[in-house]
Amino acid sequence: MEQQYLYIVLKHLLETINGQHEGFLQPLFRPLSGTSKRCSGQSPSQYVYTRSLPRLLEMNILIFWDRGAPAGLEIPVYRIISQILDIPASVCESPVLYNGFDRTRNQFDASEILTCLDIFSRRNGEKNLILLVIGDDIYRQNTRYVFGLSRPATGTAVISSARLKNEYWGLPSDEMMLVDRLSREGAHELGHLLHLDHCDNPSCIMANPLTLDDLDNKKSMLCPLCLGKIQRSPITVSI
Ligand SMILES: [Zn+2]
Ligand SMILES: [Zn+2]
Repeated sequence: MEQQYLYIVLKHLLETINGQHEGFLQPLFRPLSGTSKRCSGQSPSQYVYTRSLPRLLEMNILIFWDRGAPAGLEIPVYRIISQILDIPASVCESPVLYNGFDRTRNQFDASEILTCLDIFSRRNGEKNLILLVIGDDIYRQNTRYVFGLSRPATGTAVISSARLKNEYWGLPSDEMMLVDRLSREGAHELGHLLHLDHCDNPSCIMANPLTLDDLDNKKSMLCPLCLGKIQRSPITVSI
């Protein structure tokens, strides 16, 4: 599996080089071997992937990986998201139980999921931005479906892998494509949590992805304008 992850990260490195975004280069040369250990003071089922580099321990972005989300893709996804936004990130098994299932649609209401995340965040005094990755299909009022939804005021976001999988559209499974899509959609929603609006540059992560093709046509990077905004503005979350 590690070889596949190496391939994915190298693929991203080539894309980064082609995009002339040197800010991403340094983190990609971290060693790929990692350990998983339990978090102290948190749910026993939680774990955090740690690295020897101190900047990853700052944990500014916390990714909760639900049991229903695609197993085994946590590490490449969190690494690529961290590289895209140039912010430290970590990934945990999700401790959050969410509700909001709509029987008539066979989907979850993404706003209700965010409310569950907000309650968890408040109860735990969570200061990090939280991205929840789930496998269930989600919608927002007046839409058939959404890939993800964010709530910048509380620093919470959710993305669904349901329609990011090739299988959903009757195409052969492609794990690397799924890693790319999860990373891009996750970075996009986190970008909103960092108070970025949609961007007119179609290859920027903050371009509004209305279809899967839109998502696939992006590059796994922020345009210089959006990256500059993130680097200039402090992260504020009200809990
Ligand atoms: Zn958006
Ligand atoms: Zn942009």
